[in-house]
Amino acid sequence: MFAMMENARLEALHLAQDTATGLRAIIAIHSSKLGPALGGCRYLAYPDDSSAICDAIRLAQGMSYKAALAGLAQGGGKAVLIRPPHVQSRAALFEAFGRMIESLNGRYITAMDSGTSSADMDCIAQQTRHVTSTTAAGDPSPHTAMGVYAGIRATARARLGGDDLQGLRVAIQGLGNVGYALAQQLAAAGVELFVSDLDVGRVQLAVEELGAQRVSNEELLTTPCDILVPCGLGGVLNPQTVSELHCAAVAGAANNQLASAEVADELEARGILYAPDYVINSGGLIYVALKHRGEELPAITAHLAKIGQRLTEIYAHAQADKRSPARVADALAERLLYGS
Ligand code: NAD
Repeated sequence: MFAMMENARLEALHLAQDTATGLRAIIAIHSSKLGPALGGCRYLAYPDDSSAICDAIRLAQGMSYKAALAGLAQGGGKAVLIRPPHVQSRAALFEAFGRMIESLNGRYITAMDSGTSSADMDCIAQQTRHVTSTTAAGDPSPHTAMGVYAGIRATARARLGGDDLQGLRVAIQGLGNVGYALAQQLAAAGVELFVSDLDVGRVQLAVEELGAQRVSNEELLTTPCDILVPCGLGGVLNPQTVSELHCAAVAGAANNQLASAEVADELEARGILYAPDYVINSGGLIYVALKHRGEELPAITAHLAKIGQRLTEIYAHAQADKRSPARVADALAERLLYGS
């Protein structure tokens, strides 16, 4: 365990259990160099404890990188709550988790993530103020979409010679909370949209409301387009899928799009510009972090707009160094976090 922590340069790992409610929680604090650690809490079943701990550590490290490059005075953390097969009271379990967070005196701030909802955050908020994305704080997804939109414009500027999106062909995989809000903005900018989703109802809505063209889930990644926008699950870019892409750039919201770090080099070798996922999708984090600090919407929107600038800088570095933007982003984040 300590080797794993050392490898990820993890600051601290906190474990707690509460027999009365069935809580078994892991809080990984990757770094608090730039500020208190902020990151979502997952509530999922895991095959064993060590895979839950690995997940928490890996995700906490990702949050540090994301916060650092988003220019937030925030460190990276993540919590994993191991979902029991049966729970008597979900509310009581999340309240117990709230007490665990409170015991850390603000070193970790939690938020909604896979398997949790704003209602769960409301239960946590009964016990601690170190929680965001409650019902009152609001859904971060539209802000993630706004940031991705700014990132797509920066990507078009760098790869296609201009940020006027009118007439560009954009293929979106996944029309969920982020993907659909983004599709609305892109349609308003005059983009020709190609869309797919496992949920046929979402696709139908985009066809009717936004004039999008339906593409099967199997064909979306190989659709000829200017920009491919993954907004579904992670891991969509692997050696096989990258060899079959027909796009000039990939710029989407999905977390962990690259199946491995080497895939970024393969994209680069094919001349496909890749917007590092944790940079372009940081709008949600920016929203929850600034909202938690009591910032008003205009200040949050101004901060979101910087995502485009940050990507432009990363693309310029990448071009100068002939490296993938993903490698450049990692190096920049590591400099901010470790000074190396
Ligand atoms: P969501 O669950 O609301 O939507 C995901 C959509 O993708 C669903 O409609 C699902 O049916 C579809 N989908 C999944 N796999 C697909 C496939 N193979 N082909 C076509 N469609 C597929 O999730 P979301 O909140 O919109 O988030 C989308 C992605 O962005 C996720 O990877 C998430 O981790 C990431 N992200 C979200 C936020 C946020 O603020 N919500 C912030 C940062 C990153």
